[in-house]
Amino acid sequence: TQSVYTFGGGALHDDARAKDKTIVGGKGANLAEMAGIGLPVPPGFTITTEECVSYLQQGNDFSAALRAEVAEALTHIERAVGKSFGDAADPLLVSVRSGARVSMPGMMDTVLNLGLNDATVQGLASVSGDERFAWDSYRRFIQMYSDVVLGLDHGLFEEALEIAKEDRGYMSDTEMLAEDWQELVAEYKRLAEAELGHPFPQDVTEQLWGAIRAVFDSWDSDRAKVYRRLNDIPGDWGTAVNVQAMVFGNMGDTSATGVAFTRDPATGERAYYGEWLVNAQGEDVVAGIRTPQYLTKQAREAAGASAPSMEEAMPEAYGELARVFDLLERHYRDMQDIEFTVERGKLWMLQTRSGKRTAKAALRMAVEMVGEGLIDEVTAIKRVDPMALDQLLHPMLDPDAPRDVLATALPASPGAASGRIALDSDLAEKWANDGDKVILVRVETSPEDIHGMHAAQGILTARGGMTSHAAVVARGMGRPCVSGASAVSIDMAARTLKIGSRALAEGDLLTLDGTTGQVMAGLVPTIEPELAGDFGTLMEWADKHRRMKVRTNAETPEDCRMALAFGAEGIGLCRTEHMFFDAARILAVREMILADEEAGRRAALAKLLPEQRGDFVAIFSAMAGLPCTIRLLDPPLHEFLPQRDDEFAELAEAVGVSVEHLKRRAGELHEFNPMLGHRGCRLGITFPEIYEMQARAIFEAACQVSATGGDPVVPEIMIPLVATRRELEILRALVDRVAAEVFAEQGRTLEYMVGTMIELPRAALMAGEIAQEARFFSFGTNDLTQTTLGVSRDDAGRFLAPYVEQGIFPRDPFVSIDVDGVGQLVRLAAERGRATRGDLKLGICGEHGGDPASIRFCEEVGLDYVSASPYRVPIARLAAAQAAL
Ligand code: PEP
Ligand code: MG
Repeated sequence: TQSVYTFGGGALHDDARAKDKTIVGGKGANLAEMAGIGLPVPPGFTITTEECVSYLQQGNDFSAALRAEVAEALTHIERAVGKSFGDAADPLLVSVRSGARVSMPGMMDTVLNLGLNDATVQGLASVSGDERFAWDSYRRFIQMYSDVVLGLDHGLFEEALEIAKEDRGYMSDTEMLAEDWQELVAEYKRLAEAELGHPFPQDVTEQLWGAIRAVFDSWDSDRAKVYRRLNDIPGDWGTAVNVQAMVFGNMGDTSATGVAFTRDPATGERAYYGEWLVNAQGEDVVAGIRTPQYLTKQAREAAGASAPSMEEAMPEAYGELARVFDLLERHYRDMQDIEFTVERGKLWMLQTRSGKRTAKAALRMAVEMVGEGLIDEVTAIKRVDPMALDQLLHPMLDPDAPRDVLATALPASPGAASGRIALDSDLAEKWANDGDKVILVRVETSPEDIHGMHAAQGILTARGGMTSHAAVVARGMGRPCVSGASAVSIDMAARTLKIGSRALAEGDLLTLDGTTGQVMAGLVPTIEPELAGDFGTLMEWADKHRRMKVRTNAETPEDCRMALAFGAEGIGLCRTEHMFFDAARILAVREMILADEEAGRRAALAKLLPEQRGDFVAIFSAMAGLPCTIRLLDPPLHEFLPQRDDEFAELAEAVGVSVEHLKRRAGELHEFNPMLGHRGCRLGITFPEIYEMQARAIFEAACQVSATGGDPVVPEIMIPLVATRRELEILRALVDRVAAEVFAEQGRTLEYMVGTMIELPRAALMAGEIAQEARFFSFGTNDLTQTTLGVSRDDAGRFLAPYVEQGIFPRDPFVSIDVDGVGQLVRLAAERGRATRGDLKLGICGEHGGDPASIRFCEEVGLDYVSASPYRVPIARLAAAQAAL
């Protein structure tokens, strides 16, 4: 099969593979697409992702066939631009860029100006008539190639440049003259040779293959692996390589380079949005070395900036760019993220892709594009990443709270965050693992900071614009970010920093508002998010298209209210033990557990009954007639045991027995493996009075709410950790008996259901029998995962990461359901259960109920509902709609 595809310069794109992202990567596909619709794209070629995969498999070697195809494709570029690669008189220069199926900031990005050496730099100077430009390009090339291909420390070169400027008394790069750059090139080559032990490569073909090799190798770099892990990107995709004729944004004041979005990626507003620099090359904008200028006059004025916008400084090229923006949006029917260069007044497109955006922007764009007729509702629903909604559902800074504002900089990624300042990513990760909230503060970030950014609540950088690495990555991760805060200066040696005039140290509290760009000392309180507007509209559309109901896991009236505001349609799991752990009740709970006799247990349970009844009255009232699944006590008794001496003493005093006696009793109840011990329905079987009390509390509460005019409640009583039909039969009889007693006492009868959790493999296998006793099943996929995999929920954290890295599990099976294994049991139990009882209600209440990929699986299996924690309810609503479409 063909391994290299050309684009631009009259190349045909009639082979579907030439535009297939899986073959030529996202960048390559879009370059071919743009060239195909007649946009000005410098000619080039793409080496396929398949080649990358086989290169990595075959011990990092290139085939002769590939070398031949590349040589031929290079000829295509040479013909199209009328220059030859390596020609000392009029050299062709190329850029070499990676390009996976999806954009991956963890990978090698770009080498520009490849093809320059001591001879071709002269040719470039004479053909362009611009010595300065030629030497500037050469030094850029050495610096970039050394960094990304040869693995030399880029700090070396930056330092040499700083010294060169200092020696000459210059403030900025733009003051460097041709001869200054030429001298710097000599210094760069000396530095490279000293580091490498051999001269910087002069052979342009060697340069090209070196760069191709670096792109392929970068697929397996640590950074890329981390990024893939965080973003669920399979390791076997590989990356394509794009080689493209250079166009130059650094050919004087009629040249420029920039990045732009067709709509505002932070707010979603329909306004061109971008940054550009005159007389510069692409990396200058992204690296934050010079402060970029605004694209439009309106944006410049709004920011009160003085440097002219592109609209003002280059009206013709800007007009052309605006035309291209509209064309691309209509073509792709989505917001585009674009890189362009203006070479001596002529616009060239270097890249387009659908742009990363904040959740807020994603929502607004999706809803507005439906209004504009660009897309339909279904496309809008599919376009918003459910997990991204998380960004919107979390609190924002309280506008009325006092703020001690230290600085205001670029609002690079919205949302509010507070935490302790960490000055490097390793520390940020460490503190976060210790349970601290952290704000990562850096001069600028690079892909090496990905793990720290992920661990942090928010990110603050001293340098960089809205399209800097920090900004792009933070938006992608949904972390609030303030960038380009030049008021921040960091002293890494002392581990202190200054923000404006304020001296701070690592560990101090800081608050960021990524929506306004404010940086504040200390901790600023937050308020709840706004759930109307575009969010409400999209959710309405999602609700129209989903089949499954969405319930919530909740055990307090506050959780219930929150979940209802998020659109929950009932409670899928109320874990009653959370009520038992309440500080005010734990004494009675312990008294009950440690009692020697049934009579002692009953006495303690009598104290708990009114409390539990109160819990359920509050919950049923809040849920106003929506279905509520209440699970009877589940956790191992072991977990309620007192630990400390003072706890034993307090209890001994309350119950009137000796500490020694209690300790002996606690010793008897101690378990080595409590998660497989005395828990779940086993408690109900051995201590039926516990379940009796809970059932009584539920029915009395339901009667009370109905009697006081509340909406009628249909309690769904759920028995946990059932393995056999008989367990459920016994406990159902118990519940029925209590129900009859309560109804007789209260003089009213209410509808209710008894069902079970399916969370043990045996229960799944025997679901056909168990369904004889159950009106509903709720899949407890947390325990089902634990017991099916034989992996302890509480200890998995220690070894799961390497398991995911090595591809043993595609994702953490406690986060996203193991479809092949655990999923098989769910599928089988659903089928067998329904075969016994046609109207068996099926739901899921493990953590997977809030995970989009697992929700897709639930839709496939045909469950009736998913149940998720309150903040995940909107995510589940959207994911359920996407799954149904
Ligand atoms: C489950 O096991 O999936 C479940 C929901 O129960 P818990 O997490 O309380 O064990
Ligand atoms: Mg469970």
